[in-house]
Amino acid sequence: MGTLDMIAKKRDKRALTGDEINDFVRGYTRGDIPDYLAAAFLMAVFINGMTERETVALTLAMADSGKQLALMQDVVDKHSTGGVGDKTTLVVAPVVAACGQPVGKMSGRGLGFSGGTVDKLESIPGYRTDLSIQEFSQQLREIGLVLTGQSVELAPADGKLYALRDATGTVESLPLIAASIMSKKIAAGAGGIVLDVKWGLGAFMQTLEDARSLARLMQRIADGVGRRSAVLLSDMNQPLGCAVGNALELKEAIGLLTSTGKIDAGFREHCLTVSAHMLALGNHAADVKTGYRMAQDALQSGAAWEHFRRVVARQGGDLAVIDDPSLLPNARWVETIPAPHSGYLRAVNARIVGETAVRLGAGRAKKGDPIDHAVGIIVHHKVGDQVAKGDPLATIHANDETKLQVARQSVLEAHAWSDTPVEPLPLFY
Ligand code: URA
Repeated sequence: MGTLDMIAKKRDKRALTGDEINDFVRGYTRGDIPDYLAAAFLMAVFINGMTERETVALTLAMADSGKQLALMQDVVDKHSTGGVGDKTTLVVAPVVAACGQPVGKMSGRGLGFSGGTVDKLESIPGYRTDLSIQEFSQQLREIGLVLTGQSVELAPADGKLYALRDATGTVESLPLIAASIMSKKIAAGAGGIVLDVKWGLGAFMQTLEDARSLARLMQRIADGVGRRSAVLLSDMNQPLGCAVGNALELKEAIGLLTSTGKIDAGFREHCLTVSAHMLALGNHAADVKTGYRMAQDALQSGAAWEHFRRVVARQGGDLAVIDDPSLLPNARWVETIPAPHSGYLRAVNARIVGETAVRLGAGRAKKGDPIDHAVGIIVHHKVGDQVAKGDPLATIHANDETKLQVARQSVLEAHAWSDTPVEPLPLFY
């Protein structure tokens, strides 16, 4: 069947066969199918969805579009569906590795309002995020911890399709997100995968129901290819932790790893919980409760911090800078916005905070745009906090006075108030 017929079939809400999906993925990866046809296909999927069987076929075809690492039963990977202030990997990966379980993690860059681990790591001068597959495998064997960018050699179909989805308004589709995430995870070879599926204002999934459907779909794909998986449904209505912006988030992660400075209790709890599930899934802990205690020990003893230093040194990063985070890129203007009145916080809108950070230069409007590692926002309070007029509400780090002025207003708009007490938001659902 030709590509045009296949698009018409999906347009008419008929299910595609595995062979048809394979032909499409192969043809698009090779460059035989032009972007305008692939865009029409993506829109037909976006509107009409895919059956589970089609989604599994799409995932496997994408995983098969490039090299694949051999299955490593003892390696556990994690994946967050993306959010604002989500610097969890920077903490969780060294915590889990410090407990003796290998972690090989390929991460993405920020796109839109959602940040990316690779951009955060690149705040460290010299840090390499472009390891080859061979370097990835060797480092995983030798030090049990790798934090690098997504290899272009693995699941190249996802790289191409993701960029096209971003340009055609077809990102927020359950089957396309599930296939995108799971194809990369399958190709990267981990035997176990912890999926942190986020929902809320600062997430791709806008409802808990959608997040649950995505989680179930990804778990069924993992089952189908013999990978162990655990799924967490977590909140992304307000930013995770306090910092939003690359070097600022790295500083927050370093603060938690070294137990220095003000530590956000929610961020700490989130990291311990994700670590606990990774340890249990990798059979390094008898159960999640034991994994949680092991993760606490790895943080408190400094073992996780030592593993972070080890991975930074191995990947060429400047240790002096992480040992003294004041040497990380700093913004020219640092301005704290006071609370305009007293009350309880009803919302700290993650979407607005994320978009404000992007406008300051922390993220990119389109793939390939340069970013400014120094800029971003620190939010000082969480939903449910009682705040007095004049208390610090948020601190803006800016390198451009006009952008600073715009950010002042947006930061105030991100905070919604109540005169009566408000329940804090749960971390997990
Ligand atoms: N993260 C991914 O890797 N792919 C998506 O489609 C969405 C989030």
